[in-house]
Formats: sequence, C-alpha cells, structure tokens
Amino acid sequence: MAIVKYTNVSVYSSEVEGFKDNQSVTVDTETGKIIGVNDDVQAVDEVVDMDGKYMTPGIMNAHTHITSIPTYWWRDGEEDRHSNSREFNTMYAVKNMEDMINHGVTYIRNVGAPYDIDVEIREMQKKGFVKGPRVMASGQAFSITGGHGSDGGYEVDGVDEVIKGVRTALKNGVDNIKMMVTGGVLKNGETPDDIQFNMDEVKAAVREAHHKNKTVAAHVQGAEGVKEAVEAGVDTVEHAFNIDDETIAMMKEHGTTVVPTLNAMYAIYQYGEGTVPDWARKKVIVNIKKHFASIKKAAAAGIPIAMGTDAGTPYNGFESESAYEMQLYVDKADMTPAQAIDSATFNCARAMHVDNEFGSIEVGKYADFIVMNDNPVEDIKVFQRDNDVYQNGVRVHASRVVADVKEDKRVTEAAI
Ligand SMILES: [Zn+2]
Repeated sequence: MAIVKYTNVSVYSSEVEGFKDNQSVTVDTETGKIIGVNDDVQAVDEVVDMDGKYMTPGIMNAHTHITSIPTYWWRDGEEDRHSNSREFNTMYAVKNMEDMINHGVTYIRNVGAPYDIDVEIREMQKKGFVKGPRVMASGQAFSITGGHGSDGGYEVDGVDEVIKGVRTALKNGVDNIKMMVTGGVLKNGETPDDIQFNMDEVKAAVREAHHKNKTVAAHVQGAEGVKEAVEAGVDTVEHAFNIDDETIAMMKEHGTTVVPTLNAMYAIYQYGEGTVPDWARKKVIVNIKKHFASIKKAAAAGIPIAMGTDAGTPYNGFESESAYEMQLYVDKADMTPAQAIDSATFNCARAMHVDNEFGSIEVGKYADFIVMNDNPVEDIKVFQRDNDVYQNGVRVHASRVVADVKEDKRVTEAAI
C-alpha cells in the first residue's frame, strides 16, 4: 500500500489532444485511484521512471461471454456450450478473465452467462480471488421462447413475463439487462432480420431496468430490429448490421451507443470454414459487408461506438482479440486509431455509466492502464503486443523482454 509516482510517461488524453509527452501520474495503491497528474505531490513512497513509454487507459470491452469457449465448440456440427455444466463454464470464465487482463483488458461488460455465473465472478474478482478485469454482469440473457440464445437464459413472452424476469434478474444482482431482440448467426432456423421481442416487451424491460438505474443492451442485427430497440430506449445496440440514415437520426435523438463486435463475424469468415456449420457461416457471408458498412456509417455520423468483441464466439477469444477489434475499426470502419482508442476506453465507460471512475487517466479515476513501447495512435496494432498492464495502480502483467518481436498470429487478411 503506497503512493507511487510514475514519471517520464507519454499519457493519452483524448482523440483531439492525443498523447502528451513527459507527464507524471501519481497513484494511491490502497484506493487504486489516480491522485495526481503532473502534480507536485512530494510525499511519495516510490518514483518509477517510465522511460518515455506510452500510457493509455486499460481496454474496456462492452460485449463478452466469459463462460464460453472461443474454439472447439463445434463437434459433429453441433454447438455444445449450453450442455456444459456450471462447473465447466465457471472454470472457463476464470481462465478467460486471466487471459483478458494479461492482454490489457481491465473492465468488461459481460452480456449473457448461464446460471448467472458472471455475477459470482464479479464478486470473486472484487475480492481478489479471480485475476482479471472488473466485471459488469448481465447474468442470463432474455429471449423469447425458442429465440436467439434461449438455451442459456430467461425465456419470456409478453410484457408481464418480461417484467417478472427483469425484476428477478435485478434481484439476483445483475448490472445490465441483455435482450435478444432479433435472430442471429449462431442459431439454426432464424435470421438476423427476424424480429423476436416486440416493441412492448422491449419497452417493458427498459422501463424496469431504468427504474433501478441499470442499463439495457439489445442484441439486434437486421434494420427493423435495430430501429425497434432504439425506439424502445435501450442504452446500447449490439452488432447492428443495417444502420441507415433514419436509424442514425433516431439514435441521435435517443442517445444510443453502438457496440459493433466486428470480430465475431470476421473470425467465422476467416477461420470457420469446415468447422462452423454452413447454416451459420452462410449468414456471416451474406451480412459481413453490410455489417462493416453499417458501423462505418454510424461512426462517420458521430454515433458513439463502444468497443465490444462478442468474445466467446467461434475463433473470437479473450487474448489479443479486443485489441484486434480496435484494428478492425480502423481497417474496416474508417475510424482513426484515436477514435478506436476512445471506443475502447471513454465511450465504453460512458455507455456503462461508469465514466466518473473509469475510461480516462484523470485524478479521481481508477489507475487501470496499459503501458506500451510505441505510440498506438501511429499504429493501432501496438495494442496487440505483449504490453505492461496496471490495475489499481499496480502492475499485474509484465511484458516479456522479447515483446517487440512477438508476431501477430493473424498473418493473413481475408479479402472482403
Ligand atoms: Zn454476444
């Protein structure tokens, strides 16, 4: 427990201001918070020279499934994750948590976990029993009977069942409600364009969650589903394959944030041939270009983008994928590297309603940050390297000496 001053460090400030050289950041490791930036606090226990390196806030990922296995789901063409036991899912969650923090992810919003496992993991992380990012938990997701994700969560139909379900989830300690509003890719017999929950049901969920100051995240893919969710007042729309001008106007009116999860689609496109069933991969092939164009349009229109990967879908894991998602925003959605950084820090914090304590390097916020040898505004791929990671002002992952020669495992780019 100590006051530590990190000096001679280049600190990321914002998209407009970029990095500021030769800064100092003073932290109190007892509270875990930043107590000074370029301050003249004299009574420090330790001074650490950061050698001119680059510091950004830790990565925040607004869309994860920590209980899932990113690969090897598909045996004989059947998805097997939902037949897994509570113990199996919990063990994976613990492993995935550690992988994430070692790759710079310091806060996640988990949006769907069987048995409410993420609620328990959140508490275990707080107590220090589980190494990993802080967790905002959604518990089990909400689906219509037989709808998207219905094997692992609440199956509810009609306004009364939605109200009962949301109140039950809140009673069980969730921070966010996840509503599967449309069909999706990874369930056979439905399409991303299918509307599942109707407007009244989504509005009921939003009303109940907002009464308790909790947020609602909507899985929505097709154009009409996105409009329904935005109109119903959800806080974030996840995926969003078809954002058009009308949707952008609606999002501006309602203050909606978009969580793209581009790598969920791209990973299946790149690596899923022969393992991910054809019925699922076909939906990716039909929608992936639309998805990229949709996010590009939203970003260009100034709609807030909060980084989320959908970690836990096939070939989309818990290591450098969060950093890779940021690269996809630059490569496929025409965002600047600084906009990609903001999407994974401040925009997530704001969408998760924790921006008073997270998402930037400022006095009063938690001292969760990444320290890199090179400037990620010049090359967003720097985030994918093995970097130093700090949580509560303490280094929790040290990069190896050979960090800079580590090759990105994704050596091929799929042509889209
Ligand atoms: Zn998801």
